[in-house]
Amino acid sequence: MALYDLSRQVLEQVRQAADIVAVVSEHVSLRKAGKDFVGLCPFHGERTPSFYVSPEKGTFYCFGCRKGGSVFDFVMETQHLSFPEAVEVLAKRFGVPLPQASAASRRREDLTQQITRALEAAQAFFLSHVSRDRPRAFLEGRGITLIQAQELGLGFAPPGWRELLDHLQGKGFSEQVLKAAGLVVQGDQGRLWDRFRDRVTIPIRNFRGELIAFGGRAVGDAQPKYLNSPETPVFSKSTVLFGGPKAFAAMAASGEAILVEGYFDCLSLQLCGFPHTVATLGTALSDHHVRELARRVQRVFLCYDGDAAGLRAARAALGTLLAADFEVRVVLLPEHSDPDLFVRQNGSQAFAQLLASACGPAEFLLRQAGDSLAARRQHLPQALEIVERCPNPVRRYVLKEDLARGAGVPVDQLGPLLRVPKTAAPGEEPRIPAGELALLRGLLLDTPLERRPGLLTRIPVDELQHPLCRQVMEVLVSLDSSGTPLEISALSTHINEREARRLVAALEYEAPPTSEEGLEKILRELWERQKKRQLAALTQEIRRAQAEQDREALARALAEMQALMRQAGASR
Ligand SMILES: [Zn+2]
Repeated sequence: MALYDLSRQVLEQVRQAADIVAVVSEHVSLRKAGKDFVGLCPFHGERTPSFYVSPEKGTFYCFGCRKGGSVFDFVMETQHLSFPEAVEVLAKRFGVPLPQASAASRRREDLTQQITRALEAAQAFFLSHVSRDRPRAFLEGRGITLIQAQELGLGFAPPGWRELLDHLQGKGFSEQVLKAAGLVVQGDQGRLWDRFRDRVTIPIRNFRGELIAFGGRAVGDAQPKYLNSPETPVFSKSTVLFGGPKAFAAMAASGEAILVEGYFDCLSLQLCGFPHTVATLGTALSDHHVRELARRVQRVFLCYDGDAAGLRAARAALGTLLAADFEVRVVLLPEHSDPDLFVRQNGSQAFAQLLASACGPAEFLLRQAGDSLAARRQHLPQALEIVERCPNPVRRYVLKEDLARGAGVPVDQLGPLLRVPKTAAPGEEPRIPAGELALLRGLLLDTPLERRPGLLTRIPVDELQHPLCRQVMEVLVSLDSSGTPLEISALSTHINEREARRLVAALEYEAPPTSEEGLEKILRELWERQKKRQLAALTQEIRRAQAEQDREALARALAEMQALMRQAGASR
């Protein structure tokens, strides 16, 4: 929920206030080493320290795993946050007030806070009713004791029509806020009543632990069996992974997630010793869910219901996860079972065995076609279509091999197996040319601060080949035009791409110092390249002008050509 105006200026305030040594010290014990600090890298296991923090540049860098970046990157990486979230965390921690985006969003923020307070008050109300006989019997029937229920925050919405409404209005919440929070429903004649009635309530929290919605499970025969909060300013069903902050922490620690469909599947597995379980709330796996998963884990166990609908959903989710390059395993449950039922009937051990024997994507896809090779072969095109979505060529190759073997087909009959995607896989930038790296390093580290603007104006930025290098140079040009000193520390809030911030943080460690002669040599090469390109373009223009007898254009091009030749003779 980016309700803040994160302009460059604001980012800069946060960056200046956020002490990178203090932030890193919460995770790593650092000792001083010259101008820098050094410690054991939190991102890869090591015994001798290769993790450097530079308070002067505001960067961190590890020689072992080559991770690096700004204080924002460190918080993003360690707390699994997006960039705006990391800014928010640092702003709070270092007391930088974040201006709200606009008057409209200020009003929204006001409403948001009131909604959150109303939800928390509702939660307290629901909790106070969970020890009644009706919810207790229901929960015990599902193997959840009262103590566990309280631990999970499960509550009970009594069957009356206005019990919560009256209670919360008595506490001063307005109708408008209660409606906006999705706690009450308004009928045609304006009459209001409680949305959740005679239901066990399940609090839905975001990854920060903030209460954003409720799920309600009918205790009696009421339909629907499950009822969610509606979409509200704080809750969007298709973006939330249910499971709570503990699940997110467990996922990040293990690198694995178990993905299920329902609340009770998730809660039961968490209670039975699988804390890294999360659920989608009755929606298909969305790109947003995938991003939330990708920040924390590499491997996902899909564990959907054993019926036809569950298998269909698992198949769709498999495609989505493969496309995001996850390692996916599919847990196959008996036909009329679901994860909740299974673990309650068979226990944790049995479920752990099920996880251990979970099948790979190819096996899952082929099994759905049946056992006969003929049926499997017939199903191959659909299965291939799903597998083809995997962007990782190695993983895709292995998956196709598995498919071929499972269907009894020679692997080379599955079409071109080693199709290599034309564009490099994400995170796999082409290497930066040594000259461009040396140029960046020379400019930002080896040239005294006061001489950097002069040097910058001599660099033909358009001639740089590597996109990251060009990006950093373009940022430097815009900083220079606004009179900002060209320092590495100032860059982190102006560079949008994480890889580019890593590059800047790594300069001192991944490139040797650039001498003044070295710099001049690189510049000469770049000018040479620029001149060649300009000459080629002019030659073409002259040819065109001659062919079309465009005298004016011809004269102009010839004059430019002469100027270029003259300039080439003179030094720059
Ligand atoms: Zn490392």
